[in-house]
Amino acid sequence: MGFNTRQVHAGVEPDPVTGSILTPIYQTTTYVQESVDKYLARGYSYSRSGNPTVRALERKLADLEGGADCTCYGTGMAALQALYLAFLKAGDHVIVSDVAYGGTYRLSTKVFSRFGVDFTFADTSRPEEVRKALRPGTRLILTETPANPTLKLTDIAAVSELARTAGVLHAVDNTFLTPYYQRPLELGADLVVHSTTKYFDGHNATVGGAVITRTSEQDAAVRFMQNASGLIMAPQSAFLTLQGCKTLSVRLERQSANALAIARFLEAHPRVAEVRYPGLESFPQHELAKRQATGFGAMLWFEVKGGVKAGKTLMDNIRIWSLAENLGSVESLITHPVTMTHADVEEAERRRVGITDGLVRLSVGLEDVEDLIGALDQALARTGS
Ligand SMILES: *Cc1c(COP(=O)(O)O)cnc(C)c1O
Repeated sequence: MGFNTRQVHAGVEPDPVTGSILTPIYQTTTYVQESVDKYLARGYSYSRSGNPTVRALERKLADLEGGADCTCYGTGMAALQALYLAFLKAGDHVIVSDVAYGGTYRLSTKVFSRFGVDFTFADTSRPEEVRKALRPGTRLILTETPANPTLKLTDIAAVSELARTAGVLHAVDNTFLTPYYQRPLELGADLVVHSTTKYFDGHNATVGGAVITRTSEQDAAVRFMQNASGLIMAPQSAFLTLQGCKTLSVRLERQSANALAIARFLEAHPRVAEVRYPGLESFPQHELAKRQATGFGAMLWFEVKGGVKAGKTLMDNIRIWSLAENLGSVESLITHPVTMTHADVEEAERRRVGITDGLVRLSVGLEDVEDLIGALDQALARTGS
């Protein structure tokens, strides 16, 4: 069945008790057992180990990514943590994309490094850099593509091939494009991570995360760690995310079309020094974007002329666009990574990977594109004075 059908129906069955078309929010701690060694109905025992509402979302996301199974979490960071806990131990080495979500950098360098895991931040957009970073103790390669916030791309098939040859796991953070536009498992990756906070939810209603695995054995390893560490998703979040998933393709298509129109507008604007959007012919990896994904997404960035001062003027004067962290929602958001999402990344590291002081990140929403462009035009005009 096609993606649109699956995003609506996969994983969800009418509620066995009432026939409710939506999987209810199973707000319960525990499940009554028939006897000491027998669970009723579907094998649920305690909500840290499993919950029917969360399970419906897990089945849907596994289906959409084409994986064996999926586990869901309270946040995207909890998903990444479960992935690290399941597959790493002291002495292991991990290669991570040098441009990645700020929280991924923080979890690696400030938390897991304390437990004896060694990290190399490599330019994964160049497979030869990944090859060079490989060591005998390398256990995992974690790539993020397109990367937050620079949108640098990693060739998923090329890095997966390197990983397979070296006997190393390749996990892809697929938050920016979702399985509607990019399916890392089909390109050879072993694991997919998501912040469901972003496009799966899509309505700024929840925070959540997911890990989708190629094999059931990998899922069992992650699920064991999820239960052992208590990194779970609450049923209300799963319920809301289940509803968001049903319109994923429709939202992404419209948001991406809006993003392309905005990118073209900015590219021609005299107050804008540079624009990056994978769908623009001027994007350095435009060919790779077309090859490994079926769409370009709704994230873009630009550099306003006049540095930090102009950037601040722009932010302070813009209408419609909300100055806020998060991305992927129906509301259009504008972010200044240096002071917001990437504030925890050291200045030298930010410069090295191209997160400049004047970089403005846009998460394009579902409003009328004329209104979004008009608001940008008006705010940009103020930056010239
Ligand atoms: C937001 C985000 C995360 C972290 O997810 P949370 O739900 O905020 O914990 C991880 N990776 C990427 C690419 C993200 O955008």
